[in-house]
Amino acid sequence: MTKKHPITVAEGDGIGPEIMDATLHILEEAGAELEIEKIEIGEKVYLAGNPAGMEENAWDSLLRTGVFLKAPITTPQGGGYRSLNVTVRTKLGLYANIRPCVSYSPFIETKHPNMDVVIVRENEEDLYVGIEYRQTPDVSQALKLISQPASERIVRYAFEYARRYGRKKVTAFTKDNILKMSDGLFHRVFDEIAEEYPDIENEHWIIDIGAAKLADTPENFDVIVMPNLYGDIVSDVAAQITGSVGLVGTANIGEKGAMFEAIHGSAPRLAGQNGANPTGLILASVLMLVHIHQPEAASRIHNAWLKTIEEGIHTKDICKKGTPVGTKEFAQAVAARLGQKPDTLKAVEYSASKAETWAHHGSKVTSTKRELVGVDVYLYSHDAVETLAKKIKEASIPSLKLSAITNRGGRVWPGGIPDTFCVDHWRCRFETDGALKPQEIASLLQSFADSGLDVIKTENLYSFDGKPGYSHV
Ligand code: NAD
Repeated sequence: MTKKHPITVAEGDGIGPEIMDATLHILEEAGAELEIEKIEIGEKVYLAGNPAGMEENAWDSLLRTGVFLKAPITTPQGGGYRSLNVTVRTKLGLYANIRPCVSYSPFIETKHPNMDVVIVRENEEDLYVGIEYRQTPDVSQALKLISQPASERIVRYAFEYARRYGRKKVTAFTKDNILKMSDGLFHRVFDEIAEEYPDIENEHWIIDIGAAKLADTPENFDVIVMPNLYGDIVSDVAAQITGSVGLVGTANIGEKGAMFEAIHGSAPRLAGQNGANPTGLILASVLMLVHIHQPEAASRIHNAWLKTIEEGIHTKDICKKGTPVGTKEFAQAVAARLGQKPDTLKAVEYSASKAETWAHHGSKVTSTKRELVGVDVYLYSHDAVETLAKKIKEASIPSLKLSAITNRGGRVWPGGIPDTFCVDHWRCRFETDGALKPQEIASLLQSFADSGLDVIKTENLYSFDGKPGYSHV
């Protein structure tokens, strides 16, 4: 007999308990070998005063099992509550978010009958690091962080996934025509790693037109890899155009753990009505079974689900003909079809080799000569730009020359035009002809403080092997 695999289960909020009951019923009927540990997460835990939405002892279970089957939760309104999903992803290092978006035409109505796209979303970085500041009355800032090691890891994951699942093409979406340093890094890494996979086609689209093409002709895409925030948005669009956001399950994969959930939220208005579609969580549990090396149970459940859909047994969100069934009845219908295969839709067959055993490849970051060559000083001021420039020049030190002032990224000095709309947040660029000592920046800041200039923050400017590591003004 197979040894039972310990997993951690959370029922969540809203429709969470109903879709989790449905999913656990099917798992049990399918003979999945699971030892279930339940933990409490979500709204009640937040409101009981835990800002992470999860009891400390829940971590013991998660760290012990390393496998988390999670129903959606409701994050209470108002400040001070951290996103539980982001916390779990970063604490457990779940760097890859996999979202298969498939249409089931003609059984589920969709404008895109031939859609079969897997979105591989980077899961730990980008604007999702959640580092934000209000810097002046006018301006708030969020930090977008993209690192080479994380980009390499997710891009490699996408190509490895394509190879293992017999997929033909990997596409990257970025916005590197504007974000040349951050998205530019992701794109460069994509091009470099793509060369190691000559058997798989690769392409890159700027995210705006890429997303438009995906929404219009998803059949032209296969695996798509992208930074975190784009992946968040684009995967909801992709799921919705298969027929319903309730149809997609997701795997969050790391080297030491994994979390499986539906991509949708807790749908509070549907809660308690036995009306939600449990498919997202059911298909997430299929991804989980593959991950924990129980491919037979995964195939049985997935095929029974396909057969149920083919027979027109549908929950309200996807029901176009006849009477919809409830969440519970849908789960019972799937359980009753375990062992059957679909007649028209393509049956699935997971095998042990599909289980994920991604080897960690070391990062390709090579050491470069990094030199401090200047500094951007951000100031809060209501002065007109010429007045501000005069004050700055008077307070500057001889070795650091003011070369430009920008407002909201646009250059306003020298050579600005009076009509440019400006806010109270100024970036002042100081450059040197050669290498700069950190002490000189400290002297500049001291002089600014003595002159009453209101410094918000500084950003050092570095060159890497002689090439500027900062955007031009
Ligand atoms: P939502 O996904 O809960 O609902 C969006 C729409 O889709 C609603 O019309 C809803 O009725 C419908 N829908 C969602 N899941 C469905 C299902 N299984 N069957 C049928 N219809 C379904 O998104 P929202 O309304 O923006 O968010 C509600 C709450 O969920 C918020 O508190 C949000 O923070 C939370 N949320 C949680 C997660 C998570 O835990 N992973 C993810 C997203 C949102």
